[in-house]
Amino acid sequence: MHTKTIKELSDLLQAKKISATELTQWHLTRIAQSHLNAFLHVDPALSLQQAAAADVRLAGNTATPLTGIPIAHKDIFVTRDWRSTAGSKMLQNYTSPFDATVVERFNQAGTVTLGKLNCDEFAMGSSNENSFYGAVKNPWDLRAIPGGSSGGSAAALAARLTPAATGTDTGGSIRQPAALCGVTGIKPTYGRVSRFGMIAFASSLDQGGPMARTAEDCGMLLNAMAGFDARDSTSIERPAEDFNRHLQQSLKGLRIGVPREYFGPGLAADVEQAVRAALSEFEKLGATLVDISLPKTELSIPVYYVIAGAEASSNLSRFDGVRYGFRAEQYKDLSDMYQKTRAQGFGAEVKRRILVGAYVLSHGYYDAYYLQAQKIRRLISQDFQNAFTKCDVIMGPVSPTVAWDLGDKADDPVANYLADIFTLSTSLAGLPGMSIPCGFGQGEKNAQRPVGLQLIGNFFDEARLLNVAHQYQQATDWHARLPAGI
Ligand code: GLN
Repeated sequence: MHTKTIKELSDLLQAKKISATELTQWHLTRIAQSHLNAFLHVDPALSLQQAAAADVRLAGNTATPLTGIPIAHKDIFVTRDWRSTAGSKMLQNYTSPFDATVVERFNQAGTVTLGKLNCDEFAMGSSNENSFYGAVKNPWDLRAIPGGSSGGSAAALAARLTPAATGTDTGGSIRQPAALCGVTGIKPTYGRVSRFGMIAFASSLDQGGPMARTAEDCGMLLNAMAGFDARDSTSIERPAEDFNRHLQQSLKGLRIGVPREYFGPGLAADVEQAVRAALSEFEKLGATLVDISLPKTELSIPVYYVIAGAEASSNLSRFDGVRYGFRAEQYKDLSDMYQKTRAQGFGAEVKRRILVGAYVLSHGYYDAYYLQAQKIRRLISQDFQNAFTKCDVIMGPVSPTVAWDLGDKADDPVANYLADIFTLSTSLAGLPGMSIPCGFGQGEKNAQRPVGLQLIGNFFDEARLLNVAHQYQQATDWHARLPAGI
């Protein structure tokens, strides 16, 4: 049951060949037996209660294609019935009085929540090692990181602990873990998915999106997730659309832009080989490759770490020991209470970002760093618009290497930042980006570690990205491969 796609499970549920209760129980058992540390909170009784309600809907005529489908949410989405920690000690015992819009929409569609998924603290990281609740293991190789910050989501999907998961992507946190765990994920155009109830990291970049095993499954999830929400001031008002409406379209005549800057010396040879093989596959499917340039790619790292830090320092000021979660036990006065609470409640990476952010926003430095970064952000966005005059989609690697070993870069923040090189600019430009499995690394160590192919589209072009990814997944089987022992 756990190797089936959402589409297949949905058909079985509608045909009454399986029940939501059975399906939920099956996955809960798998979660209980797993040792990946992917889940932070499970509540089997509550999940089974939701499954029973889904079975009632399936017996009547109010079911949607997602009714009875088990799903797990990144612990960045707040939930009324489950704790929401954002991977931080600061929110260790926090339960929200409301559901995030995304969670509310899935509940309305009738999905069954299996639990909340581990992630880097406040979604800051690319290895999941910044979680206060410990790192997540990559099911393909238990020595490897799963990627981050949605590492729990990617690992749980790869280990078939859930057929569906939510993730959030500020600078790559859906695409990079999807790539390193061999699953499929899409970060929609900024503003597509409501940020209401998504614990904020960098508000001008944060975007929720679906993660699953196939493009078709991601489209089904996005259909429920996306849409205008008056409670999010940057939510985009557009008519509802079926994101899977173009799935069957042929790729004949598709122009794929291949950015020169994505194939430079920083790219590992085994990743390059897998990505180039995928590009050849697309040529067989009728697409043509176009050489393009995204000249500001390198600048996306300093620009992102200035802007994301600035917004994080502002967003995280709300964790003061009074309004939410954790408070230090011993303190002399109010300011001592703030200091001790924040010193004890936040991890090292979060503190580093708050410090950088407060610095770049401070008097005298604002013009030199923050404003400069905003200007370059605009130029990065223009690079993409120039490229899209020559091509329909852009393709390249997601991550310069396959998953590295746990601990390898844990004490080297800059090494982690550099690994974000291919995902950050898409986020800075607000464009939709996707990651699909396209092979494995090479050599004794990397042969079991997945490689992801990145697809970048113009604004609101999610349906095309899903079409392109789906056609590739019809022609290849990388997305259907299973880690050993799963
Ligand atoms: N790795 C990037 C960071 O650490 C991106 C994280 C994200 O997208 N949430 O900020």
